[in-house]
Amino acid sequence: MNNSAGQILDGNLSTSIDLAIENLRNDLLIGLPTETVYGLAALATRPKAIAKIFQVKARPTNHPLILHIADYQHLDKWAKDISLYTKNICEHFWPGPLTVILMRTENVCNEITGGRETVAIRIPNHQVALSLLSSLNDGLVAPSANRFGKVSPTSAQHVVDDLGDDVSIVLNGGTCEIGVESTIIDCTSNRPQILRSGGISKSQLEEIGKIEISQSDGDSRAPGMLEKHYAPKCRVELVDSSQRALHRLDEISTQGLTAEIIDFHGDSKLYAKQLYARLRQADDRKIDIVLAVMPSSGGLGDAIRDRLIKAAAAN
Ligand code: AMP
Ligand code: MG
Repeated sequence: MNNSAGQILDGNLSTSIDLAIENLRNDLLIGLPTETVYGLAALATRPKAIAKIFQVKARPTNHPLILHIADYQHLDKWAKDISLYTKNICEHFWPGPLTVILMRTENVCNEITGGRETVAIRIPNHQVALSLLSSLNDGLVAPSANRFGKVSPTSAQHVVDDLGDDVSIVLNGGTCEIGVESTIIDCTSNRPQILRSGGISKSQLEEIGKIEISQSDGDSRAPGMLEKHYAPKCRVELVDSSQRALHRLDEISTQGLTAEIIDFHGDSKLYAKQLYARLRQADDRKIDIVLAVMPSSGGLGDAIRDRLIKAAAAN
């Protein structure tokens, strides 16, 4: 039994990094800050610890995990058959919220990929994550540090609120700068496809990769992508304008229910950064309905719309 389980430690201290390394090498899970959301991390070469991630999250094993690495130079250790456009986008956007799907090497264990021949990889853009990763002679697998299907954590406290002492320690790295999960792009063919929208947009990738990219449709999404996800306990209702939200707020209160509006008036960056915390706050306050004003499409707006649609589908 680990008595200090569920403790939040300052991720900027070398003593915290040392303890994180020791715990990881003992097959314990740690909470890891990244620029997207907080991850629940295990060493990429420890199948026993990886199995714990699925168990703690109650995540189906056919939802493969993203492998986090420290440096672009380490990519060849984990992935092969890397095209020129893939090299270009990785060199340009890493460290950053971009996950690439590539053919895996024999260094990637089956537990990470659910037996697939492909692997998802990224370099996170967060000083604490990078300092931990560069001290390890290994990668880290890290899905979001919440129970499966629920709202992702964007602070160290969110991780402890969700996972308690199922996580050995959480490295505190402040509030996540981006606030929504990474963009995932399948780079295993000459016709790359975005499988999940995130912090890097399709047009940015097309410009740097000098290649036309498609957006996934219903049938070809990544394994583990669901219609319902990222869900708070309260009902999420999508509205397309601030005016409509105010109108609904009136209607709902006459029914004796409580509602709250999430509206960032066109500021997608702030919307992404605060979305999950706002959904959590609504649950803490036992609000019945969140009225989320949809941001316009394009850039981060696509990622926010995707998460909101899935949160609303879980009603
Ligand atoms: P997350 O749920 O944020 O941890 O992101 C992991 C998601 O990345 C999975 O649910 C899949 O949709 C996708 N993914 C991870 N590995 C692969 C892979 N090898 N092939 C295709 N998609 C993957
Ligand atoms: Mg997740």
